Amino acid sequence: MSKPLENRIALVTGASRGIGRAVALELARQGAHVVALARTQGALEELDDEIQALGGEATLAPCDLKDFDALDRLGLALFERWRKLDILVANAGVLGPISPLPHVDPPNWDNVFAINVTANYRLIRSLDPLLRASTAGRAVFVTSGVGSRAVMNAYLGPYSVSKAALDALARTYASETVNTSNVRVMIANPGPLRTKMRASLMPGEDPLTLRTPEDFAPKVVALCHPDSQESGKLYDFQDDRIKSWRQPE
Ligand code: NAP
Repeated sequence: MSKPLENRIALVTGASRGIGRAVALELARQGAHVVALARTQGALEELDDEIQALGGEATLAPCDLKDFDALDRLGLALFERWRKLDILVANAGVLGPISPLPHVDPPNWDNVFAINVTANYRLIRSLDPLLRASTAGRAVFVTSGVGSRAVMNAYLGPYSVSKAALDALARTYASETVNTSNVRVMIANPGPLRTKMRASLMPGEDPLTLRTPEDFAPKVVALCHPDSQESGKLYDFQDDRIKSWRQPE
């Protein structure tokens, strides 16, 4: 029996662990060829072994998202090999410093923005022609509730501001593609999940009380299917529904 994402090419950033790894495995399980991007080569090789054991296929892209020229080269390499990209899961992110805004060192601020925001703009810039070349290009950007909350979290400034910017970036891209292409762009908010990032934010929390990336991954992959037509909206895993943005009241 054919798998739902057979012959589809999917790039996942942050595929070495946590949410990105689980999404990469789920995409492979559903038949997609996974292009797995992260810095940790050994973890990508383990992912590759696991994907092969599932009968799937992966291409490894060991790369630092702050190497913006490498993101341009990746677009070119994907074009030369497949002429298209069907799925982008822009998941990689960093928490950055947890401190009051006036105490944030400028290099730390820049680092969070380079990874959480600018790299995603550079991916859009590099991959847009490939997503448009797909019969049903799908992009999912993994955000956090902290960027859109009515009451902001103190001491998570760089992360919150970067995720608000990421939401705006993805919504802008959605508005630029929805009427001119087959590309659909969604934003996905996992809520608290059992990962390394969550453990560094909440070291006292019992991780076993949290849901896992494997619980969330099928929801992200559902947004990557050709029949998923929503664009410019937020999938909220905690409420398990798609939400629209509203004007502040
Ligand atoms: P994680 O376990 O810390 O994983 C982060 C991933 O991003 C890793 O694969 C890491 O790979 C990659 N990454 C980080 N910096 C990179 C860089 N410079 N270049 C390339 N790859 C880089 O985090 P996670 O919890 O799975 O989070 C994934 C996404 O979900 C993030 O965007 C996060 O903001 C969001 N999120 C998570 C939670 C949660 O509770 N877990 C809640 C809300 C939102 P390498 O280190 O190998 O490069």
